Amino acid sequence: MYDMFRRGHLHWRNIDGIVLAWMVTMHVGCIAALFFVTWQAVAVAVFLHWMTCSIGICLGYHRHLSHGSLRLAAPVRFFVTLCGILAGQGTPLMWSATHRVHHGRSDQEGDPHSPTDGVWWSHVLWIFVRHGAEQRNTLYQKYIPDLVHDRLLRFFERTYMLWLVGFAVAMYMLGGWPLLLWTVCVRIVVGYHTTWLINSASHIWGYRNYDTADDSRNLWWAGLLAYGEGWHNNHHAWPRMACYGHRWWEFDITWQSIKFLRLLRLATNVDDRIPTDRRVSS
Ligand SMILES: [Zn+2]
Ligand SMILES: [Zn+2]
Repeated sequence: MYDMFRRGHLHWRNIDGIVLAWMVTMHVGCIAALFFVTWQAVAVAVFLHWMTCSIGICLGYHRHLSHGSLRLAAPVRFFVTLCGILAGQGTPLMWSATHRVHHGRSDQEGDPHSPTDGVWWSHVLWIFVRHGAEQRNTLYQKYIPDLVHDRLLRFFERTYMLWLVGFAVAMYMLGGWPLLLWTVCVRIVVGYHTTWLINSASHIWGYRNYDTADDSRNLWWAGLLAYGEGWHNNHHAWPRMACYGHRWWEFDITWQSIKFLRLLRLATNVDDRIPTDRRVSS
């Protein structure tokens, strides 16, 4: 099982060609965007970065789906998961399954993206390994049995690329090349690197509130860039807790959105336990 995430598993024969082509296209688009700058396109891209990364990935993919830290009303769940898809970080099922492996094997053999296998491996290289359908199914059955039969998530699993391509076409029709390049290429690439920093930098630099068995750290600038996810040592110590800032200066913007949704009764069963001491949770 853990073989599929071993560093030695990446070889020129098993590189995922679709992921490689996608990554090259997105990064070339970033360079092209420098020649198509309009303040409107940049402003929309910044807003969409928050919506797809904070609401989609941090709140939806990570805290709701991967950790069950909160429940969401059905229409909100649809919208939040769709926001996550538009971040271009993979299907909700694959993201959640991979992330649960990370928590289960943090900084040990089988962790999909540990800096103990190299900083660049943990930051980006791990995503290029191609996984077969059979491996995916085995992974899903073992790590996300609670999600794998979810009708909405199965629907998004089948239609994932359609949403991304449809979004890109819509942006081009609405605002031509400037809007397409900034709200798709630049926004997605910036989102990749801020998310990947949690896998790389937040397992290398920063301070620790909790004496966890892994190398997770609280890194203030990653906390700001990744919408609260940079308080990563707190998260590894208390994975199910919906709030990642445990000291007064550890600001977690995604937690503010969760509180707002709870106020509207659109988020329920929010795990808001505040740790009373600095020991690691069981
Ligand atoms: Zn981690
Ligand atoms: Zn997590």
